[in-house]
This record gives sequence, C-alpha cells and structure tokens, in this order.
Amino acid sequence: MRRLLHSIFRKEAQPQSITFSRPLVLLESDDWGRVGVRDREGFEQLRAKGIRLGEHPYDLYTLETAADVTALAAALMRHRDSRGHPASLVMNFCVTNLDFTVMKAGGYHHLELRSLGDGLPANWSRPGLFEAYREGIRQGLFYPAMHGLTHFCPLAAENALRENGDRAHLLRTLWEAETPYIYWRMPWIGYEYWNPEKPRTGFLTVQHQRELIQTACSEFQSFFGRRAVSACAPGYRANRDTHRVWAENGIRVVENGTGSGLTAPHMDDFGLLHVYRAIDLEPALKEVETAKHLEIASACVARGIPIVISVHAINFHSSLKDFRSATVSELDSLLTALESKFPNLLYVNHEDLLNAAKSGVEDLDAASGPQEKAPELQEVR
Ligand SMILES: [Zn+2]
Repeated sequence: MRRLLHSIFRKEAQPQSITFSRPLVLLESDDWGRVGVRDREGFEQLRAKGIRLGEHPYDLYTLETAADVTALAAALMRHRDSRGHPASLVMNFCVTNLDFTVMKAGGYHHLELRSLGDGLPANWSRPGLFEAYREGIRQGLFYPAMHGLTHFCPLAAENALRENGDRAHLLRTLWEAETPYIYWRMPWIGYEYWNPEKPRTGFLTVQHQRELIQTACSEFQSFFGRRAVSACAPGYRANRDTHRVWAENGIRVVENGTGSGLTAPHMDDFGLLHVYRAIDLEPALKEVETAKHLEIASACVARGIPIVISVHAINFHSSLKDFRSATVSELDSLLTALESKFPNLLYVNHEDLLNAAKSGVEDLDAASGPQEKAPELQEVR
C-alpha cells in the first residue's frame, strides 16, 4: 500500500515550472581551476612526443592566469543591473588536479589528487591566481560553485591503466607533460560520474559518487571557506544518484546544459532547484551570433524564465592563445545589448535565484542592500 501511494505521489509530483516577472540574467562558467596544456613548455613537450596539438581549440586549453581573471572581473564590473549591482559570474571549479609529481614517483600506475588548497601540481605556476579568484568573490563579481574533482571519469582512467595498451600510453605521455587529458582526443575518458565504455559502463555507483562528491564538497569548503550551494556535473552527466548525493552534501542548485530547448527552473523531490542554460557564448569554439542570442533572451523573458548564459573558462584563457580579448569584447556587447533591451533586468547568482524561487521578492530585496530600490520580482507558479 505504501509503495502504491508512493508511486501515485511520484506520478502527481510533476516538476512545477518556476517563472519570474522580471528579466533575470545568470552567467554560468565551467572548468575553473582545472589545468590543461602547460603553456608553451608543455605544448612543445607534447608536440615532441608526436601529439599534433593545435587541431582543436581544446588543444590550447591551459589554465587561466591572474590577468585573465582580473580582466574578466573588470568586464563584469563595467555592467550594472537596474538595482546598480554588477554582473556576476557563477564559476564552477574543479577543486583538485592530478598530482603529477606523486604519480610519476609511483610509475603512473594510479591516480593521485592534489587539492587546489595545496597549490597547483608539479611545475604549474600561476602567480596571484588564487588571490584574483578571491578578490572577485569578495567584490560579488564571482560566485564559486562546484564542478568536481578531476572532470574525467576515474574509473575510465583506471580501466585504461589496467589494460595497459595505447590508451595508457597516451595518458602517461600527457601526464609526463603535466596535462591530465584532452577530452576530444580521448572521449573514452568520459566525465566524472559517467564511464562511457566497458567494464562497468554508465554512471558510477551511488557509493562511488558519494565518495567523490563528499571529497569535492570538503575540498571546496576548505578552499573557499564556504559550502558549495550550486553544482554542475562535468559534461552535465548527472543521474538521480548524483542529485541525491549532492542534496546530502548541502547542494541546493543543479546547473543543466543547453540542448533541451528553453526550460523553466523547477524543484526536484530532493529539494534541488534545477536551472537550464539557454545561450552558449563560446567565442573560442564558435562564431558568436549576437542577434540569435538576443532572440533567445527575448523568448526567455517572454516565458518568465531566467536568461542563463554559458561561457566556459577556456574563453578567458590567454597563455597559449589569446581567447580572452575576443570573449571580453563579446561579453561586453551581449550584456550591453541585454541591458538596453531589458532596462529592468537583474544580474543574479544561484543564491539570489534560490531565494527568489523559494521566498519571492523579499529575500532578493534584502540582498540588494538599503540603498537599492526594490525590485518587483515575483514568483509565479
Ligand atoms: Zn566542464
């Protein structure tokens, strides 16, 4: 009987769309803190080993510098919403990197992680980077959120090492150059919670996900001095177990990718607020179509859903190739266009959105400070 009631309840508990009477703009960005190709030195090292880098933008994915982060912060600061608040970027962090030094000492037989809090691995160097993150957070320009630990699936890497064939050889060549992996060259590596190939294809078990997520949340807290409230699974590969474990660990907001059309935020039965991206602003990867972006933004506003813009960290990198200048300029143009099209827009982060979704306008008013005029945000279910 209980099971029957439960199943009836589940059937009736369709996610209810949460809509807003005011244009909200959310900027979401993945892959912060995660190292790639180690600048010119790592690039040359990999080329010397026969890896023909330069065929794809992600061959030039490195790691943001303090200057990249400061330029991004300055761009956000140039923009103000109708409350006078600057634009704010949700930054999804990988809170560990591979510890290449320890892995090398062990003959590259196992994965070893180094938390961001202990600094970058091996010869990676980014003077002032962590301070630049923290300064942006202090100014309310950046909102740190959870991406994960490694981004790739640890089980897939362990399977490759065990097999000890070409895949293990490629991994060790990359690790020797202090690059963890380059996804497009090896999609078999999967995403953190999802293994694309045998053995044990599919999502990791709930226990395995729990270990990874608990570690990630605890590393996040020690690096940022606050709990992660929002999470985005690497590759957007999350299942119900991921959601359950996130909820257990204090996550309240789930970031989902574009691709399922325009989708309104909704609460799931773990009490997690799901948010969906609407616009991909990725100048490093493809041409920016501002007119199309504005059309999508208008459609979001017409439906009362937030304009969620995705811009990955690679777009702000500059040490191997200057992706940053074009992105800052495109971001400036897009935000200027949105501000002129929707004069009453609000730049929000996930905490603002959560407050607005749960308690209506009052919480957002309180967060806007005593000098600000009251926004007319309403929750319309
Ligand atoms: Zn990612």
